[in-house]
Amino acid sequence: MPGNYEIAVLGGGPGGYVAAIRAAQLGFKTVIIDYRRLGGICLNWGCIPTKSLLKNVEIYDTIKNHADDFGIKFENLSYDFRRIIKRSRDISRGPSLKHCAVRPQMRQVRSLCRSS
Ligand SMILES: Cc1cc2nc3c(=O)[nH]c(=O)nc-3n(C[C@H](O)[C@H](O)[C@H](O)COP(=O)(O)OP(=O)(O)OC[C@H]3O[C@@H](n4cnc5c(N)ncnc54)[C@H](O)[C@@H]3O)c2cc1C
Repeated sequence: MPGNYEIAVLGGGPGGYVAAIRAAQLGFKTVIIDYRRLGGICLNWGCIPTKSLLKNVEIYDTIKNHADDFGIKFENLSYDFRRIIKRSRDISRGPSLKHCAVRPQMRQVRSLCRSS
């Protein structure tokens, strides 16, 4: 992104993008520099993808240990670890995921950065 900037924020994680948005709101011409992905650990690898994994555990535990309470019957409950990980990764980055609650957060960060 060529141009002259008054503030350069190194790192586009929650610390960086919040600082950059605030700097821009205060009127400084601001750029975020990140050598990996906007959103940092939290949106791409940490907070958000791990919540997907926790949801898997919750669903599996409910079915395995509380199915009877819900009137659900099953045989041979199992899981596909590859699919579990894929869903978690898709939630952070995959445009193919149709029913994703988190994807809009990433768009929001991008558009906040653009509009600031
Ligand atoms: C598995 C896991 C689960 C988590 N769950 C939660 C949670 O539920 N709730 C919560 O509040 N926190 C959670 N965290 C912590 C959260 O991810 C961090 O607190 C947060 O990401 C820190 O933000 P940050 O901007 O300081 O750093 P980061 O998110 O690490 O962002 C730093 C950014 O800087 C970039 N960068 C680094 N060096 C350079 C360089 N030299 N040049 C260019 N770019 C650079 C990196 O690519 C990265 O994008 C979790 C962390 C992990 C690992």
